[in-house]
Amino acid sequence: MSSNRSSSGPPGCDVAIVGLGPVGAVLGNLLGAAGVSVAIFERDADIIPTPRAVLFDAEIMRVFQSIGLADAIEPALRPSTGMQFVDPAGNVLLLRAAADTEGSQGWRAFYNFHQPSLEGALRAGLDRYPTVSVHLRHEVFAVDESPNRVSVRVEDMASGGLRTVSARFVIGCDGARSLIRRLIGGGLSDLGMHEPWVVADFVLKHDPGLPPITTQYCDPVSPSTYVHVVGNRRRWEFKAAPGVDLRNAANPDRVWALARRWISPEHADLERAALYTFHSLIAERWRRDRLLVAGDAAHQTPPFLGQGLCAGIRDAANLAWKLIRVLQYQAPDSLLDTYGPEREAHANAFIQMAVHLGKMLTAANDSQMRALAGEVGSGAELVYPTPSLGQGIHHNGGAAGVIAPQPRFEDRRRLDDDIGYEFGLIVSSLAQVTLPAQLLELLDSLGVAVVSASGQIEEWLTSIRQTFVLLRPDRYVLAATSSVTDLQDILLPLERALGVRERSRTSSVRA
Ligand SMILES: Cc1cc2nc3c(=O)[nH]c(=O)nc-3n(C[C@H](O)[C@H](O)[C@H](O)COP(=O)(O)OP(=O)(O)OC[C@H]3O[C@@H](n4cnc5c(N)ncnc54)[C@H](O)[C@@H]3O)c2cc1C
Repeated sequence: MSSNRSSSGPPGCDVAIVGLGPVGAVLGNLLGAAGVSVAIFERDADIIPTPRAVLFDAEIMRVFQSIGLADAIEPALRPSTGMQFVDPAGNVLLLRAAADTEGSQGWRAFYNFHQPSLEGALRAGLDRYPTVSVHLRHEVFAVDESPNRVSVRVEDMASGGLRTVSARFVIGCDGARSLIRRLIGGGLSDLGMHEPWVVADFVLKHDPGLPPITTQYCDPVSPSTYVHVVGNRRRWEFKAAPGVDLRNAANPDRVWALARRWISPEHADLERAALYTFHSLIAERWRRDRLLVAGDAAHQTPPFLGQGLCAGIRDAANLAWKLIRVLQYQAPDSLLDTYGPEREAHANAFIQMAVHLGKMLTAANDSQMRALAGEVGSGAELVYPTPSLGQGIHHNGGAAGVIAPQPRFEDRRRLDDDIGYEFGLIVSSLAQVTLPAQLLELLDSLGVAVVSASGQIEEWLTSIRQTFVLLRPDRYVLAATSSVTDLQDILLPLERALGVRERSRTSSVRA
């Protein structure tokens, strides 16, 4: 558990993170591992004890691998046993079946988890980094911007004292009501769904024979979702019926009445019930000058795909390396302009699909449900989106712009373990190419790790018919080619966009 390690307050830092939810914690870990000086301000005294997210995907596990926490986190997870959408008669409309083996990302495809436990592990991870300071019960209430720095004004909520912290960049990971988003300005694009749902978490005393997989009940009268979380934890989500007094919608008696179809107090304790409005919104601006937003501050999605937190963690993985390049490699700060467009297009694809599934859950009749299922399924198989990044630091087409798989080397090591949170050039060993010395020098100054393929990694290159794949630190493919000349043409302009390794790094100001 992270603590407030600064009593007098930081004089200055490179990055101030506003909000220590899961997204702020992942961003802090990524930046801390690179030695960036970071000050994190969180208004609450402790982790929010009531879980919201219950599912994340393998790409997120890969980010935890990047910050060296996958092994610590994995034992508390439950590999997802799948998800189905059923009609009122119990017929399966869409199914995401679960494999009980490792998937293309090098991990199981989806995991169920207990959010407060996950956040505990992420916060403990921050304690590894001397350049990261965490300030709990500190609320950011204003920022004053100047061309070179931002003064962040903070209230120490324990003492009521006010202080000012200077930062080169301020990242709002401050949730749905983000102050930083409002200071950036620009509106929110509305993707059309805003629905009140009651979320209820139960702890089972014994299992009365609940469904083995997550089940979303498409029902014109009473749409609902059931999730086998971890251990004896179970979640139900019920759409608030029209006309219900929302102030009473999450009242325990009402919740037990809604859950009666599956369980009664003899089977479980009700841990908590709360009303949430599921929104579908995306920020029009993700950056203005030295202010940026990530996570729920930048987008909100109905949880029918389990992707809100995933999108936030992808934001952190996309943004951290760009900040590191600007702060440590002298990359122009225009690199940060690629963050919003890249992430907006990607997050948008998931929100649109979640809205679509939400419409299916609440469709008026069977034929509407089936038509909606048909638009996103292949047969009854629910096909998850694998969107490309919006315009930014990648070549378009083929393997580029999308998340790379994580195959294993011949000796079973995972690809990312060889590269770390860095750029990597994977080179086919079958092609037997020798890279010219000048190119190797360029790769070195750009900070690109060169990896010789073997095992499944070589099979991947063969399947996409490429000799070289250039990976970004967030594991999206920057470019793939089979020609050394092309590779040179791809790398040369990157010198300007990404900056080069500083030979003698100037010491950062520690927060
Ligand atoms: C019912 C429900 C189910 C969900 N299920 C899933 C799921 O299965 N999978 C999934 O991926 N996502 C899911 N989500 C979405 C997911 O929970 C959120 O996207 C995620 O928790 C957001 O994380 P965050 O760090 O961006 O924001 P938050 O967790 O909201 O953290 C923001 C933090 O900023 C702090 N803060 C705010 N303003 C200030 C300030 N001015 N100064 C200091 N601190 C400040 C707050 O105190 C808070 O701690 C679900 C959401 C809900 C509601």
